[in-house]
Amino acid sequence: MSPASSHPSAVVIGGGQAGLSVAYYLKRLGLEPGSDFIVLDRGPGTGGAWQLRWEALRVGSAHRINDLPGMDALGLSFEEADRTLPAKTVVADFYRQYEEFYELDVVRPADVQSVANRDLDLIVTWEDGARGMHEVVTDVVVNATGTWGSPFIPWYPGRDTFAGRHLHTADYSSAEELRDKSVIVVGGGTSAIGFLMELEGVAAELTWVSRSPIEFLDESELNLEARSAAVAMQDEAARSGRALPSIVSGTGVPRTRRIQAAIDRGLLQVKPMFASIEPDGVRWADGAFQRADAILWSTGFRPELRHLAPLRLREKEGGVTVGNGSSWKDPRIFFAGYGPQASTIGANRAGRQIARQVIATLSNL
Ligand code: FAD
Repeated sequence: MSPASSHPSAVVIGGGQAGLSVAYYLKRLGLEPGSDFIVLDRGPGTGGAWQLRWEALRVGSAHRINDLPGMDALGLSFEEADRTLPAKTVVADFYRQYEEFYELDVVRPADVQSVANRDLDLIVTWEDGARGMHEVVTDVVVNATGTWGSPFIPWYPGRDTFAGRHLHTADYSSAEELRDKSVIVVGGGTSAIGFLMELEGVAAELTWVSRSPIEFLDESELNLEARSAAVAMQDEAARSGRALPSIVSGTGVPRTRRIQAAIDRGLLQVKPMFASIEPDGVRWADGAFQRADAILWSTGFRPELRHLAPLRLREKEGGVTVGNGSSWKDPRIFFAGYGPQASTIGANRAGRQIARQVIATLSNL
């Protein structure tokens, strides 16, 4: 296929859990991948954001990873995945087999730079790895770009004066790179706690700070109230066009056996947030100081939507208004894996719902 000359009815941007799930259902509903619709993914390989996550992360180490729809036909299941291998390797391999089995024809690397209106069409412009630019004309866009490319670091006075290293979850590859360093870990979610456990005995000194107190919850409590409340908060923000709230602040942290053991040995002692950053450390409002070589920001991500800027979907409240999977300003733009769908189970559900809506939109054109 020559993307430059084609006119697929739909373009899916992103080949992670959400994009592949939409592609699977579009195919089931009769659209041909590679001609009726195309999937453009920045890559570089298969696996969505998982391929870029750190070495020590294992499938199921914090949350469950849900299977893609139809994955059982390949005899694959994350429940039975090899937990001695990094999740990045397992997920990239499962997704590669899935794409091949269902012949989803994902175009990679395809880094979408913009989506814009031209008369009644949508124009998607993307760059391949060799810096070549391509343009494709389409009727409908499904945005499934996740959040990994948009790490969020909150601003604190003195942030830019720090002489040590700022790293975000998205930059972290292994504990070794922080060996013998004095490290401040910022954040109240499972990633922050995972880093503390990995860095224990490797870093020279570890300090954990969080904006809000940490609530450790049993699995049953998490599954019932906290999780559905967090999803409802995300849904409410998406429907009213506000920036999405942190998932962590709504769910609490699961009290797994490993986390309970870390609490028992005194590793997970959280301090309140510091007030400012100085060249060689951080300072609290009461004057206390902690020297630091590195600050590891586990402070979350924002939806990656820069390429949609020409469509002017953003509200003055800071977000995009999304209800039932599509933009309320432009119903030709769908959002998969956005807000309340930002988990592997949510992304799967979104796939079926959005694919049906895409077909309905196309049949009304
Ligand atoms: P992604 O997997 O991020 O896929 C988006 C894809 O879009 C990527 O391939 C990216 O390259 C591509 N892309 C982005 N921008 C562009 C562009 N402009 N042009 C072209 N392509 C683009 N959820 C769970 O259910 N279980 C877990 O255990 C779990 N662990 C997590 C751990 C961490 C550290 C984080 C940050 C999140 C975790 N999540 C987990 C939530 C996670 O967001 C989902 O599991 C899942 O990865 C989301 O799938 P997605 O397809 O929406 O996004």
